[in-house]
This record gives sequence, C-alpha cells and structure tokens, in this order.
Amino acid sequence: MFTKILIANRGEIACRIIQTAKKMDIKTVAVYSDADRNSLHVSQADEAIHIGPSPSNESYLVIDKIIQAALSSGAQAIHPGYGFLSENADFCRQCEANNLVFIGPPVEAILAMGSKSAAKNIMAKANVPLVPGYHGDDQSPAILKQSAEDMGYPVLLKAAAGGGGKGMRAVYQADEFDQALAAAKREAKNSFNDEIMLVEKYLQQPRHVEIQVFCDQHNNAVHLFERDCSLQRRHQKVIEEAPAPGMTEELRQRMGEAAIRAAIAINYQGAGTVEFLLDSSGEFFFMEMNTRLQVEHPVTEMISGQDLVEWQLRVANGEPLPCTQGQLNIKGHAFEARIYAEDPEHDFLPSTGRLTVLQAPLETAHVRIDSGVTQGDEISVFYDPMITKLVVWDIDRERALERLIQALSEYKIAGVTTNIAFLYNLASSQAFRRGDVNTGFIEEHEDEIFHRRQADLDYAAPLAAQAILSERKNTAQDLAEQSNEPNSPWHLVNHWRISDNSPQQINITIGTEQVEAMAADSALPANIKVVSDESGFMLFTPNGVFRCAATQPDLGLDQAQESGGNLAAPMNGTVVTLLVDVGAMVAKGETLMVMEAMKMEHSIVAPSDGKVSEFFYQPGELVDGGAELLAFEIAEA
Ligand code: ADP
Repeated sequence: MFTKILIANRGEIACRIIQTAKKMDIKTVAVYSDADRNSLHVSQADEAIHIGPSPSNESYLVIDKIIQAALSSGAQAIHPGYGFLSENADFCRQCEANNLVFIGPPVEAILAMGSKSAAKNIMAKANVPLVPGYHGDDQSPAILKQSAEDMGYPVLLKAAAGGGGKGMRAVYQADEFDQALAAAKREAKNSFNDEIMLVEKYLQQPRHVEIQVFCDQHNNAVHLFERDCSLQRRHQKVIEEAPAPGMTEELRQRMGEAAIRAAIAINYQGAGTVEFLLDSSGEFFFMEMNTRLQVEHPVTEMISGQDLVEWQLRVANGEPLPCTQGQLNIKGHAFEARIYAEDPEHDFLPSTGRLTVLQAPLETAHVRIDSGVTQGDEISVFYDPMITKLVVWDIDRERALERLIQALSEYKIAGVTTNIAFLYNLASSQAFRRGDVNTGFIEEHEDEIFHRRQADLDYAAPLAAQAILSERKNTAQDLAEQSNEPNSPWHLVNHWRISDNSPQQINITIGTEQVEAMAADSALPANIKVVSDESGFMLFTPNGVFRCAATQPDLGLDQAQESGGNLAAPMNGTVVTLLVDVGAMVAKGETLMVMEAMKMEHSIVAPSDGKVSEFFYQPGELVDGGAELLAFEIAEA
C-alpha cells in the first residue's frame, strides 16, 4: 500500500479522504490556497503545501503546481477528490508521466465519459438505454434548434462538458430557444471552457437514480446499489438517499447490470457513478457517468457498511475489490442533506461570510457529519458554498427520516444565510415522507417548502417577540448603566406601569412573512437560542430555525424611489454581459444584465417599464454584493 498520498482538493472531501488514510496508516499531504491557509484540511493532514492565490484557477486547478507538490513531498499517489481536477484527463496523464498513481480511472475512461455526447455514443453501442436527444458534432444554432423542434418541446440544453447543473437550460417553446442557447453556452464556456451543447428531450417528473459501481484491475466489477438524488434545485442535488424509495429487487438488478455494462464498455477502474433518469413506468435512461467519487457517497457507505475511499485506495494500489457482488447487501436506510451557505428565499443565491456560529448535532452511530469547516471559518466567494454534509442512518426510511429532521433542527449556524430551514421543510413535508419524489419535487411543493406554515409562524412569533424585547432591554440597560440615574423608569423600554408587567405588541418579519405578536418581559425557555447578525437574528428552536428581524416602521417611502430606482448586486460576483442599451426603453421583467457568482449566472431584470440611464460596471468587472449596478428610470405612467 502507498505510504504517502497527496490530496488535490480542499474542504470536506479532503478531510474525508484524510480520515480513511489515517485509518490505513497512510501519511497525507494537503495542498492549500491563500484563502485556505488556516483551514481544517490543512490542520488534519500530516503535511501541507501552499499552492498559490485563492482563485482555484491559480491554485487547485493548476496541474503543474499539484504535480510539483506531490513530487517534492515524496507522495506516491494523488487523490483528486471530486470537482477540481478529478475528471481532468490532462491531469491524469501528468500523474502517469511523473510516476504518480492517479487514484481514479485510467485516462481513456475519463476521456470516454468526459463529453456527455461522446459518452452517449459509447453507451448506445453497449446497449445502455439513452434519453432521446441530439448529441452530434454539428453545433450550428440552426441544427440544434431543428433537433429541438424534431423531438418536440420541452427540451433541455446541456453542456457536453457539463457538471453541477451548470450550462444547462430548459426550453419550453421555440421562441425561448435562442436566448436559452446563448445563456447555456456562456455558462458552459465560463465553467468548462467548452461550449458544445447537447439537446435532450426534457422528461417530465422523472426520478434521478444513480448506481455506484466499482471495478478493479483484475476484471472484477460490482455495483453498490442505488442512490435516489431526485431532490434538486437548479438541477443540483440537495437531499440524497439510499436505497431509492419504492425500488424493487428486479429493477435494482436491471439498473445495476446496465451500470456495470456501462463501466465495462470503457474498461473502467475505481469508483464511478452511472446516472439514470427513471420514469414513472419504470423505464430508465442513461444520463452520464461520473468518473470519480461523488459528494453523496456517504449514503452508500452507510447502507453497505463499506468505506469507499478505502476501496479506491486498494484498487489504485492494484488490489482486487474487497467484496464480490454476492457479499454486498443493503442494511437500513440513509439520507444526506447538503448544507449550503445560500439563500433559498432568493433564488438560492450563494451567501458568503464568516461562520460566527457553527454547532453541529452530536455524531453518533446514526448521525455522521462530513465537514471541512469549523466555527470562525470563512465561506468565501472562491469556492463552492457547501458548508457541511449531514448524513443519517437507521433501520428503515421512516426512522432515518425522523433522524434527519431532528438533526437538522439541532444545527446552529450563523454569520451566513443557510438552507437549513429549507432542508427542514423539505424533509418534513408529507410528500417526502411518502417517498413521493421526482426531480420537480421542489417546484411542485413550493408552497409547503418555502412559505412557512401558519403553525410554524404561530409557534415562532411569540418567541421572536420575546427575543426582540429582551434584546431591547439589554441595550437600554447598557445605556442606563452609562447614565447618572441608572434606575430611572425613563430608561425602560417595555410599556412600564407601576406594579404591572403588561405585554406589548411587536411587529416581526419571520422569513418573508410579516407577523405581529404579543410579548411579556420574561426569559426565553432554555431550549431556545438566539444568535444575532447584521440582518436580524436566528431563532433556534426544537421545531427548526427561524430567521427573524424586528420589522422596521414603514415611513411611506416607495423602495424604488428611496434608492433612486437603482438596482443592487445580489451577491459578490462578476458582470458577464450587459443586455440592453443605455437609454433604450425596456419592459418590466426584461433582463438588463447578467452577473455570475460561483460559476452560476444570475439575471438582473427591469423592476418596471423604463430605461437604464447608466451601467456602473462593465463586463468582466468584479462587484461587491449590495453595490449599485445601474441607474434605472421608471417610465412615466
Ligand atoms: P450535471 O452533470 O450538470 O449534474 P446531469 O446530466 O447529471 O447534469 O443532470 C442533472 C439533473 O438535471 C438530473 O439529475 C435531472 O434532474 C435533470 N435532467 C438532466 N437531463 C434531463 C432530462 N433529459 N430530462 C429531465 N431532467 C433532466
């Protein structure tokens, strides 16, 4: 076995790999950028090597720097984790050329699956069923559009080099095609430096079911069952589970065999995932194969009792697979929830900042936390905004789901906006409990997930009011203590009357809802925790977490008027393109400019009919979140 490996990654996956390496007595070398100087993976590794500035294209994506770090540290092998260089054929070649073992598949397998279109051609030959679509070389917009018309709308445009839902656009009718194609290409060019597009039939309400496969260098191939990753936002997974709800033994076997056929067709080695769409009639279609370890691999580990990173290391070392298909079986049920620094209430915009509070639930045999950050760390603009992964296990789905809901409610995070409340609402929705999932689940159940239920508001409002009251009292007390007459009733902020503690009415914003609640001047129960930040406070309760703020009195100012009709950047990012001319009339809702953050595009739209009188930024320029982007003149009624 290797005695030292380098991990060409950061965050939770680097920590995850270090954990198994420690267990196997393998020394680890971390690499880090400026932003990650004090990060967890650096402190956990045996050695750490600085590889440059924070942007990943100047550090984690620079092949030479990683290879040099491996050579200088004396590592024999490199684990690429996921993302970054994990599916980069050049990197794999460079490892080989420098006598370093790439812990992953052979370069030919990466190349075969690297392009979604090339992969489809191989899969068709291997008798793996495909989603109907166009995956040809002729990329002229007219041909792409014609193929969409031939297969019928809706269609999905996909970047051939794509991943992480980037460079993907659904098109519902012909007149949306051109704009969608331009946007998908731009995003693809930006993320993958490749704008080749596929056009696929956009299946309605399919499930995303993927099969974990493993192959060694001795012609052994097994699958480690399926994961259902249907719960997605923007085509990105949010909650994954294994096994898939409602899966039959017969279907599992058919999908497992198709996945193994796919792997064998490209002489695969190591860990891979074959992704399928499964429709309601039980038909399944190959989407793509990921030639690396997946973010959601822990749910497979939980139900199979296997350590997939250990398997990867053994296979890379030339050993046979640790198990035969017959020795593998499913025990219980597992869920993974991806906890992100993002704002579900605002189109899942990434949120950045310092994690002033990060308290995870207790880790037990049922609860596993895979994290790459600790309290005080920064979620920066440079990398994926995932904070941590919460993984739970129990003997059946119902019990595992209870564990998930419970654990989510125990998370305490402040300093950045998170998706915890969203995940909590998702996990506790009736349809999810029934296992009634498909990739459109979140849109379908929008009301239940995004808009707090009345019962939640009724529960949270008096607690929030009490928190506001005690905060005001503390501030007033501080002021009083600084004055000449600290005990004067004039310092009190409650509706003080002699020998009376009368409740008072407080206006509160909870999430996006405005509520009123009565609060008396008494202490909060012990199981309620309040954490303040710039925009209000988070109320952590046994029933979940609530984002609250005291509602500011309405001074009668129209918001657009107040800001002079200007539009602000929703987050830190880069300006991609300006879509209208200064001075030209635009209609309400028209896209004025496109910004990009974390490789995802965000459109800035006209708040009403009117015109842009000035753009303050040009394409390529960096913008701070909150900065005014442009001046907008509202048209006279
Ligand atoms: P990426 O590599 O960017 O993650 P995938 O090809 O894996 O992209 O697709 C991501 C998700 O998009 C899928 O899990 C599924 O929800 C949705 N999707 C992809 N292709 C289709 C399709 N043809 N019809 C319906 N949904 C699709």
